[in-house]
Amino acid sequence: MIDASLPGLSRSPFDLHGRCAVVTGAGRGIGRAVALGLSQAGADVVLLGRPGSNDATREAVLAAGGKADVVELDMGDHAAVAQVGAELVDSRQVDILVNNAGIIDREDAVDVDPAAWQRVLDVNLNGLFFLCQQLGRPMVERGHGKIVSIASLLSFQGGIRVASYAASKHAVAGVTKALANEWGPHGVQVNAIAPGYIATDNTTALREDADRSRSILERIPAGRWGGAEDIAGAAVFLSSSAADYVNGHVLVVDGGWMAR
Ligand code: NAP
Repeated sequence: MIDASLPGLSRSPFDLHGRCAVVTGAGRGIGRAVALGLSQAGADVVLLGRPGSNDATREAVLAAGGKADVVELDMGDHAAVAQVGAELVDSRQVDILVNNAGIIDREDAVDVDPAAWQRVLDVNLNGLFFLCQQLGRPMVERGHGKIVSIASLLSFQGGIRVASYAASKHAVAGVTKALANEWGPHGVQVNAIAPGYIATDNTTALREDADRSRSILERIPAGRWGGAEDIAGAAVFLSSSAADYVNGHVLVVDGGWMAR
């Protein structure tokens, strides 16, 4: 049992009341579950995404008694990332950034064309980095902030027929560590979550392939695919003061996949 008389434990270290959390791509899948989890922990959430895509999540947060705003942003549009990022930090104090938006291109490496390659890198890596830059700058100046990026098991492994995605997610792990090194001395913790195989639109093709689906499941000690909600707790933890001494870490949440 926690002794609440201990310094710093007068409230739960996981409590996010009074914090503003920005989440990208929160309309469905992992982003939606993370936004709801952060809101449940007390944070006001700002949902960044393409027009209309985050409205239902906003409604769900409001219905549960939380606070949510929606801001339109295509993470693959560099100019828009710079502009929306600047407007966000001008209009409010952002305490937490969760970089969740991501896309995957499944095709043989010999068939990948430059435009498809570029699009994956633009959304998964370039948009992520420059949004970190915009929202991280005032965190560094203030001496306080949390950044959590959704990486992947393909931050460690090569995957099958997903070269651009693996490249982008390896880079997300690298950016996470680079920013942790630079911003840690200024009180900003930068971490990532590497989800295992989670049942979202991102993995529909794998689940529809009976052989892939079976071989994936056979390697997961938990004996099941993950659900988007399995990622929310890790995001709350890394966004909270419970993780003040966690920095530059890529936290695997995979039902044990990497232990095999
Ligand atoms: P998802 O259901 O396909 O959701 C992707 C989200 O990203 C959607 O909300 C989507 O918005 C948003 N998004 C895509 N392109 C965008 C853009 N250009 N601008 C703004 N938002 C954009 O997949 P998910 O599984 O939840 O994926 C979330 C993150 O987890 C991704 O970074 C993914 O790589 C990562 N991840 C997933 C798994 C898994 O097994 N599912 C495993 C490891 C990592 P729209 O609705 O507008 O398209």
